Amino acid sequence: MIKFDPKAMNRFNQIPDDVKSKLLSNVYCSKCADVVKIVDFEATMDHDDLMLQGKCDKCSANVSRLIEG
Ligand SMILES: [Zn+2]
Repeated sequence: MIKFDPKAMNRFNQIPDDVKSKLLSNVYCSKCADVVKIVDFEATMDHDDLMLQGKCDKCSANVSRLIEG
């Protein structure tokens, strides 16, 4: 399940679609020691940065991605 808070949704919508999919499929998982896709994430704003916190597509470990504002 994917959740956005309203501010994070606004910020995310400003990102072009091709960049969005690159961001979501280029998250580092320390357990896989590889670049993976983030799934089941929750998006919030951390000051001016967009924070995605979710799970690794391969091993379900917690992963996160910060998109700098
Ligand atoms: Zn993983």
